[in-house]
Amino acid sequence: MNNIVVAKFGGSSLADANQFEKVKNVIEANPSRRYIVPSAPGKRHGKDYKITDLLYLCNTHVQQGIPFDDVFKIISERYTEIVAELSLKYPQMKDLDISSHLNIIKTSILDGVSSDYTASRGEYLNGIILATLLGYEFVDAKDIIFFDAKGHFIPDATDKAIKEKLKSVEKAVIPGFYGALPNNHIKTFSRGGSDVTGAIIAKGVSAELYENWTDVSGFLMADPRIVKNPCPIDTITYRELRELSYMGATVLHEDSVFPVREAGIPINIKNTNMPMDPGTLIVDEDSNTTKVGKITGIAGKKDFTVIAIEKTLLNSELGFCRKLLSILEMNGVSFENMPSGIDSVSLVISDSQIEGKLDDILDEIKKQCKPDSIDVYPNMALIATVGRGMSKSRGVATKVFSALSNKNINIRMIDQGSSEINIIVGVENNDFERAIDAIYSAFQN
Ligand code: ASP
Repeated sequence: MNNIVVAKFGGSSLADANQFEKVKNVIEANPSRRYIVPSAPGKRHGKDYKITDLLYLCNTHVQQGIPFDDVFKIISERYTEIVAELSLKYPQMKDLDISSHLNIIKTSILDGVSSDYTASRGEYLNGIILATLLGYEFVDAKDIIFFDAKGHFIPDATDKAIKEKLKSVEKAVIPGFYGALPNNHIKTFSRGGSDVTGAIIAKGVSAELYENWTDVSGFLMADPRIVKNPCPIDTITYRELRELSYMGATVLHEDSVFPVREAGIPINIKNTNMPMDPGTLIVDEDSNTTKVGKITGIAGKKDFTVIAIEKTLLNSELGFCRKLLSILEMNGVSFENMPSGIDSVSLVISDSQIEGKLDDILDEIKKQCKPDSIDVYPNMALIATVGRGMSKSRGVATKVFSALSNKNINIRMIDQGSSEINIIVGVENNDFERAIDAIYSAFQN
């Protein structure tokens, strides 16, 4: 580890000239911020367009033989305006001929380049603008981030290339979201993939910190559309993050966590518009003991179906669960949870998985497992209460359950993973919001 910080800036942080200026100030406030990963310009307001969406649109137009000049004009104007406004204050921007870059891109799109190439130009142009503004070197991601011919990311070759290239570059801007295939064509990560680029670069340069700058001051303990003014989370472990994001909390791009976690690099989620806010720090382990008995966050998902199966002496019947699960496997269905009792076992399955297959699965279970009864409960929601502070401390589960019973909410299922950092309850879809609010309130007092 050394004192290098890799800073990734999301689309809203680079949506216009004013945002670029904020980003410049943030970067210059800490000389350790040496490698910068930008996204493409995002929305400036609710009704605005993301540049990446417009680029994809250009490509679809070309594929269908429809003129794309109007869409491309919106893109051009956006970049031209950013550069023009920055030029008023920063003389170095006058050297940047953004229109020639735009012309090259327009011609390539017209010539039928791939949609990955087209989409990646949002980050590419932002990278060039930001590098000029900061006086940093521009390092094209296609020269250091590699995919194989099937489009799978190649970690080792990438890591080597990053180390090789950046060891002689003191400060650089590397556009997010893409890399190169073996034939040198551009390949993008999935949407939101600049987070992944940032994490890969952080690992490659053995950064001491990966900063992910966005438009919120870190994660909140619960969805603010459900809970009024939820508290921010100051520190969260990777394991907790995984549990919460799995249960629907929108956080980082899932794949972005692995490279930095593997390298033991913490992630700091920060707000470009409120740079002094501490944000949320994501760490491997946290030795701070003040969390004991407390929770870190609550998240949940709606629309599950429970198949409840009862059979006397099920616990001593060899191979019962194997048969059950192989029926799901045969139907290409994965399950979310499988709570079990002495004579019963339930399968909790997402509706999107089981759609159109429920009847076949039930018939097969009846045939192969010969249960005493089989019941189906649709419209279930799962809520995860997550916190490293709950392991080895008493009373957390009691608090969750009494919060729900005080609000007259019927708990249909309970599951606590062996990690002891997560209590999952199943409630009816209709009770979902009330249940999250009740659990959150219980832990605020
Ligand atoms: N610009 C890309 C997208 O909109 C990647 C990113 O922003 O992370 O998905």
